[in-house]
Amino acid sequence: MVLYDQHTHTYFSGDSSEEPENYIKRGLELGLSGVTFTDHMDYDYPYEPAGIFEFDVDKAFAEFDSLKEKYRGSFDIGKGIEIGLRTEAGKCEEMRERLNRLIGEREYDAVIGSVHMLDNIDLFYADYWKDKDPRACVENYFKAVLFAVGYYDCFDIFGHLDYIIRYAPCEKSFYVPSDYRDITDEILKKLIERGKALEVNTKSLKPDYGLNAPNPGPEVIKRYIELGGELLTLGSDAHFKEALAYRFDTGEEILKSCGVKYIAVYRNRKPVMMKL
Ligand SMILES: [Zn+2]
Ligand SMILES: [Zn+2]
Repeated sequence: MVLYDQHTHTYFSGDSSEEPENYIKRGLELGLSGVTFTDHMDYDYPYEPAGIFEFDVDKAFAEFDSLKEKYRGSFDIGKGIEIGLRTEAGKCEEMRERLNRLIGEREYDAVIGSVHMLDNIDLFYADYWKDKDPRACVENYFKAVLFAVGYYDCFDIFGHLDYIIRYAPCEKSFYVPSDYRDITDEILKKLIERGKALEVNTKSLKPDYGLNAPNPGPEVIKRYIELGGELLTLGSDAHFKEALAYRFDTGEEILKSCGVKYIAVYRNRKPVMMKL
């Protein structure tokens, strides 16, 4: 099993109350070798309370540093972040500058870039789908992702590529990844050309989402490899300790069935290849 979880949220994220050390204790119980903390930084989040998805990175990293010291030699701790990439016209330029500053001014192990919002709506909520054709919603999401992966350069790993499906308030069978191949191929080519990793996010395997696949699933992973991609990461997107390394056994099986031989584990924003 992949023994390193590269996508976890602690109480520095607006939607988690988990103590960082609890992930380490849980990781040791599970026999993991390490974890990267990737708390949410979603600037300009339009819902109340204002700034809920922003955190003090220096304070968080100071806490992670003391844990690194405490567990040195027994458990690896990566200092990362998950940044929200905004694609709405009129927001991007300022957002890109802010994010470049945020990332440029500190040392990170891994920066996950994710698209969580469309048209100023958090895709976690069903509002985005109201009175819209679900296929058009997915198409628009991928268009936004294609823009984001070309426009922003301050990330290493693109998070949960077809994330929009996770919260679709309808039967998920309408989503057939190959229907969107033209645009997802463009996204994958752009990631490969820019040396960015594709994350395989196992949170979407939770039965509640009705997907029975990670984000993205095997069709997209295979295309990434066919197109020449070599950088894949695995993350549980845990928001509490019990979700750490969630269904990593299934994630690994899927990766292997797609022909993946190595997982990229990011250290100092560079991939270290780990054999599967
Ligand atoms: Zn995310
Ligand atoms: Zn996340």
